[in-house]
Amino acid sequence: MKHLGSESGPAGRPGTVAIVGGGIVGLCTALEAQRQGFEVTLIDREAPGKGASFGNAGYLATELVEPLSSAKTLRSALSMWLNPHGPLALPLGYLHRILPWLARFVAAARPAQVERSRQGLVALNRAAVPAWQRCLDDIGASEQLCRSGYLLVWESAHRLEDARRHADYLQRWNVPTELVRGARLAELEPALAGTVSHALYFPEACQVREPFRLCQLLFAAFQARGGSYLQQPVGALQPASDGVVLQTDTGNLNFDRAIVCTGAWSKQLLQTAGINVPLEAERGYHLSFDAGVNSLQRPIGSAERRFVMSPLDSGLRAVGFTELGGLKLKPVRQRFATLRRHSQALLPELADPAMDVREWIGHRPTLPDSLPVIDFHPQYERLLFAFGNQHLGLTQAAISAELVVSLMKGMQPPIDPEPYSVARF
Ligand SMILES: Cc1cc2nc3c(=O)[nH]c(=O)nc-3n(C[C@H](O)[C@H](O)[C@H](O)COP(=O)(O)OP(=O)(O)OC[C@H]3O[C@@H](n4cnc5c(N)ncnc54)[C@H](O)[C@@H]3O)c2cc1C
Repeated sequence: MKHLGSESGPAGRPGTVAIVGGGIVGLCTALEAQRQGFEVTLIDREAPGKGASFGNAGYLATELVEPLSSAKTLRSALSMWLNPHGPLALPLGYLHRILPWLARFVAAARPAQVERSRQGLVALNRAAVPAWQRCLDDIGASEQLCRSGYLLVWESAHRLEDARRHADYLQRWNVPTELVRGARLAELEPALAGTVSHALYFPEACQVREPFRLCQLLFAAFQARGGSYLQQPVGALQPASDGVVLQTDTGNLNFDRAIVCTGAWSKQLLQTAGINVPLEAERGYHLSFDAGVNSLQRPIGSAERRFVMSPLDSGLRAVGFTELGGLKLKPVRQRFATLRRHSQALLPELADPAMDVREWIGHRPTLPDSLPVIDFHPQYERLLFAFGNQHLGLTQAAISAELVVSLMKGMQPPIDPEPYSVARF
């Protein structure tokens, strides 16, 4: 394994490091670098936590260890795409631009690659909640993480076998579930008793109370510990053997090291350092219903409608869609209408026209094999990367931060970094 050690800062200190990107991954990374003695500057073109990390469902989905690309996904992709209310969308105007990525996505469905991706996801997800606990205990914010449990629900009674099969599959990964119906379901989630036939209950699942508030707390702790923050876009990266120069509108900034955590925007920035990664922005949508309607006790996912609803401090949030539309297209209005329809089907009280509902679109950073990049630049060890956590960026943020900072400091990594190499493409 490559490593740097701490010799490069003045007088044996770890030295300065810039964390580019203040989403959940960058914020966790900035704090972890501080814990390891680095002098840290966080740089974001916006206020921290305003990217994808602002509007996610707040669910730590550690049970999701199947890569997005698999023979099963490919078999159902066309019918999902053709269904205007389906979970998968690809605006026609974007099709020509995404073909090279799609070709890699299809190639990633080979059984050997699926197994590699699965193992990479299992390693990150198993370590995810303990890493979050360490991070939040350290900043005195452990109440932000709750063992809420999770319900995967089915409305159609004839789909009972689907739930049983899924429970058997999850048992292979030691994910405990309970098949619930009738009185037990009504006891766990009274608001769904009238609309849901049966569900799988995940008693050990966790959520965070409010994704954006979490970002704000991490940022406040970072600043209280002496971290610097610059609000400006980084235009280009110039790595060298003895440091990294960041080009900005107001001039060049010099650091001993830098870590790129710019989520779905990382592809463009890496190109300036001579690296091409097949990163795509997977657009997802949310509706946040007025805080007064927090009728759910825990996050729930609909197996049939393929969307998630979470009770958060800011209200009840419905999230969904995998839309491959890049970083620039406007939101497709119909997605909000579909999310509204799905939400109201499960919770009819959400149909109240007087209710305040906020709409949002965000960009998940997704690589064809569903694994993030957590690695050094192949030629310049002072430039590192942590991005590409797709649908699981909140779940994996704290462990990704521990992993990338351990690489930077030359410490024993908490998990094997090999699956997340930038050179794998
Ligand atoms: C609808 C939806 C629901 C989701 N639900 C969940 C969930 O329940 N659980 C889960 O684990 N994950 C979920 N996710 C995924 C998760 O939100 C993302 O994977 C995660 O937020 C990515 O974090 P990040 O820090 O890598 O990127 P971001 O949060 O997008 O942060 C990247 C930051 O980099 C900054 N930046 C970019 N380029 C530059 C530049 N050149 N210079 C300076 N700054 C720059 C941006 O301003 C931004 O602040 C969901 C995503 C969506 C869209």
